[in-house]
Amino acid sequence: MSEEKNQECSGNCGSCSQNCSSRESESLIEPTGEYNNIKHVIGVVSGKGGVGKSMVTSMLAVLMQRKGYKVGILDADITGPSIPKTFGINSRAMQNELGILPAVTESGIEIMSVNLMLEEKDSPVIWRGPIIAGVVKQFWHDVVWGDLDYLFIDCPPGTGDVPLTVFQSIPLDGAVIVTSPQDLVSLIVKKAYNMASMMNINVLGIVENMSYVICPDCKKEFSIFGSGSETVAEELGIDLLGKMPIDVSLAQMVDNGSFEHFACGYLTDAANKIDEKINK
Ligand code: ADP
Repeated sequence: MSEEKNQECSGNCGSCSQNCSSRESESLIEPTGEYNNIKHVIGVVSGKGGVGKSMVTSMLAVLMQRKGYKVGILDADITGPSIPKTFGINSRAMQNELGILPAVTESGIEIMSVNLMLEEKDSPVIWRGPIIAGVVKQFWHDVVWGDLDYLFIDCPPGTGDVPLTVFQSIPLDGAVIVTSPQDLVSLIVKKAYNMASMMNINVLGIVENMSYVICPDCKKEFSIFGSGSETVAEELGIDLLGKMPIDVSLAQMVDNGSFEHFACGYLTDAANKIDEKINK
């Protein structure tokens, strides 16, 4: 890097496309804990909240577990954590001399979430961005995940402090963007895609949630919000990994903590595609 460019350097490699020598040394990637051997880390992101990012994260994690992999979920949605409830986990996180121990679901998926730390499950997390980002880093570093084939990270929505920290400090093998069809008319998916690209994260593809409803009587599919994911995926040159309908039984399983037992195959192909892309 020339002296001249050096003076222009803002010190923020994340928003700079220069491939200068200081970039390497300024990498903010943090190692995970010494007792961890995590083969692949997948971030699940969305441009905004409420599109089903946590449900998609949970479903992909369960499907990978059913393929025979050892799987964990790091719930980085610190202000809206929903992963423990989805899996019916009510216990508090424990700690031993090695670090913080994740909760383990019935089928053996490891989970860490701020909800496992709170005295009351309904206490709000009123923390500023840097504190929240610090907690995510702690979950990455101080939790004794052990051997995992896949760690899924349920990222907070948007493009603020915490998703930025996840992208900058945790070595992601890829990101899955979750959207609902009506978002596709806006720039939200593109924002999530551009953020990942700017951070040099490999975008594995899009999952379109709430794509359609199935009539309980005639079993016909209705795309009530329309659909534009094919177009956006094509425009961005990424895969449309899968589509998931609005399914009341899934929402009920989330609410009563039995989500792990879902029998639908909506995202089976998506999980297989992700596995292929990561392992190729
Ligand atoms: P996000 O993580 O994007 O904020 P969630 O996964 O928490 O979104 O989903 C928001 C709400 O919508 C939850 O109550 C969830 O159970 C419900 N939900 C999400 N996807 C579906 C779906 N495909 N069918 C039915 N309910 C869904």
